[in-house]
Amino acid sequence: MTRASSPRASTPMYPLFADLRGRAVLVVGGGAVAQRKAAALLEAGAQVRIGAPRLNAALAAWAAEGRIEHLAGEFAAEWFDGAWLAVAATDDEAVNRAVAAAGEARRVWVNVVDDVEGSSFHVPARVERGPVQVAISSGGGAPMLARHLRERLETELDESLGELARLLSGERARIRRHYPDLGQRRRFFERVLAGPIPALLREGRREDAQRAFGAALIDDKPAAPPAGSVVLVGAGPGDAGLMTLRGLRALNQADVILHDRLVSREVLQLARRDAELIEVGKQAGNHHTTQDRIHELMLEHARAGKRVVRLKGGDPFVFGRGGEELEVLAQAGIAFEVVPGITAALACAAYAGVPLTHREHAQSLRLVTAHLKDSAGDLDWQALAQEKQTLAVYMGVAGLDVLRDKLIEHGRAASTPFALIENGSRREQRVVTGTLAELAERAQGHRVQSPALLIVGEVAALAQRLHWFGDAPLTALPEADADDALAQAA
Ligand code: SAH
Repeated sequence: MTRASSPRASTPMYPLFADLRGRAVLVVGGGAVAQRKAAALLEAGAQVRIGAPRLNAALAAWAAEGRIEHLAGEFAAEWFDGAWLAVAATDDEAVNRAVAAAGEARRVWVNVVDDVEGSSFHVPARVERGPVQVAISSGGGAPMLARHLRERLETELDESLGELARLLSGERARIRRHYPDLGQRRRFFERVLAGPIPALLREGRREDAQRAFGAALIDDKPAAPPAGSVVLVGAGPGDAGLMTLRGLRALNQADVILHDRLVSREVLQLARRDAELIEVGKQAGNHHTTQDRIHELMLEHARAGKRVVRLKGGDPFVFGRGGEELEVLAQAGIAFEVVPGITAALACAAYAGVPLTHREHAQSLRLVTAHLKDSAGDLDWQALAQEKQTLAVYMGVAGLDVLRDKLIEHGRAASTPFALIENGSRREQRVVTGTLAELAERAQGHRVQSPALLIVGEVAALAQRLHWFGDAPLTALPEADADDALAQAA
């Protein structure tokens, strides 16, 4: 065969997207692989016929429903009659080869599952966003690599791409009428893509996007300088794996990243390499000036047309002053988006093996923050001390003694378990457990430092059995320090 004479690795494949609607496609095989192939073909609108002596339960059900046609028995070349395409998906190599040969003789393209050389076409790895499809092929030789690329593209390509394609294809005729000249049309598309429409679609504002499109169509001015914007992104607790895909995309697109000190290095490393990173960490004592400075920086860069990411530890709306920052932006008329993050309470609980609610022990969860030294008086201790609830206390390292006293004074049992999680989800994570009565001494004894999150409630005891990340919880005072801590507490 001439086909085999040029080695696969040096001869590129010819990529194509086939319209299979209403066209017969033969799948040989009746197991899980055949089922997977059949499902993808059905999705593309093909008339699937499955040839096999027996079908698995799912395929049998599809045949009974008339979604596919079943050709029962051993493979026969007549199964190809009328087929445009075929897939050999049996676990018998000889049968697969026979299918490939029959296809070759009849000039029908055949894909043999897991057989590069035996196939006359390959199915690429793909990323789908509505009607937009990105297909990736390694020529069949390195499917793992293709899959890896696919994962990267999955994170890179925004969900809203499909919406954008739909909008543009719906308006295609109108665009052509408006801009008969190809050059004009290209400039128009560039203007649309650089303008606000993609962001509007990302925000789910379809009608606004449609309106902006209409305006862009009649407004023939050259592209305005890109408008700056701010995306408020929750970076999660530290483990970079806990960032959302949308957050990652925002980092990839950012020109400037204003980040808190709490954001881990691992997460910052995900940023585009040429993005400008500015730490705006808050130092104790001068919160006010720092917050004003953050507002200034956001406004300054956004007004200069930059895509700004305001990156915050955990979730931006949980004890993160995200609301205040958005108000500043709204007032200045700067476009913004918010990407939630995994807040410390959820992350620390997960990484310490503490389920926050429990059918028997905790029907509710309270997220609390307090600089207990100053504001203990402002909290509703009656409510906080209620039984059958879990407290997750942020910023609670200083003033644990006050917390213990107030909770016990208002009725929470001194024997209530706690788990104090330092550096949750990070490699340095430590978990200290004990009962409420011992809280301050334990924390001091182990010299627990910020960032640390405190969980109080029956569920905290489960850390003993359910911990899985890092070292086991520290259940007692360290030997050498025990006397020290007791002396200090006295
Ligand atoms: N917006 C953040 C909270 C900011 S307040 C969020 O949603 O998580 C800062 C406090 O969060 C810290 O003092 C600490 O109590 C808690 N915290 C944040 N990250 C943490 C981590 N990795 N481990 C333990 N506590 C953490």
